[in-house]
Amino acid sequence: MIERNNLKVEDVVFFHSNGKLNEAVVLKKNPKTALIQVNNKRYRVSYSILFKDNEINTPFPSFERSSYNSDEDLYFLIKELKREYSNLYDTFSNEQRSLLNTVRVKWNSRITYQLGGKYFRTNRNREVRNEILISSSFKNTPKFLIKFLLYHEILHIKYSNHSKEFRFHEQKFTEYIVAQDLFRKILLEVRLFGKDRLLKFIKE
Ligand SMILES: [Zn+2]
Repeated sequence: MIERNNLKVEDVVFFHSNGKLNEAVVLKKNPKTALIQVNNKRYRVSYSILFKDNEINTPFPSFERSSYNSDEDLYFLIKELKREYSNLYDTFSNEQRSLLNTVRVKWNSRITYQLGGKYFRTNRNREVRNEILISSSFKNTPKFLIKFLLYHEILHIKYSNHSKEFRFHEQKFTEYIVAQDLFRKILLEVRLFGKDRLLKFIKE
């Protein structure tokens, strides 16, 4: 992982993808992302997945296939979250709690590589929609990761932005560090090579 300040334009950086180390050149530094070039393609990526030299060569993590791949499974995971984080949800207002109890959730049919999911409080006509969509990029990924995505979206019922308070509560997720790490790696993998190659890392 590279700190933004320790990176210069034209630096060569490395990142893990497809189980091996790939090389890229830094073209531009934005506040939260770096624009990198890999072969002839350009990508905006988070600094946290970049390494400066190839001494660090832990392979892309392989993971167990999960079987939470239906919309019903997402409801089941929300139920688990409600039990496990009841202290947090007790701080929701009555209105927020009633949104939580009636929230709809489904896998987004589109593969997205920028977000893990999205919470829609209202629709275009400003009517209540109260629905969570989870990116299908994360089908077959570990249970703790799917739960983390749901946990994140449920927090948006209370906090619409990624405020300091939002981040504070997000980090209370039990497997926050590993989930956040795998989340970023999968987003990059899907962005660079598509969803199919991701399936290679699943332990059968
Ligand atoms: Zn969010």
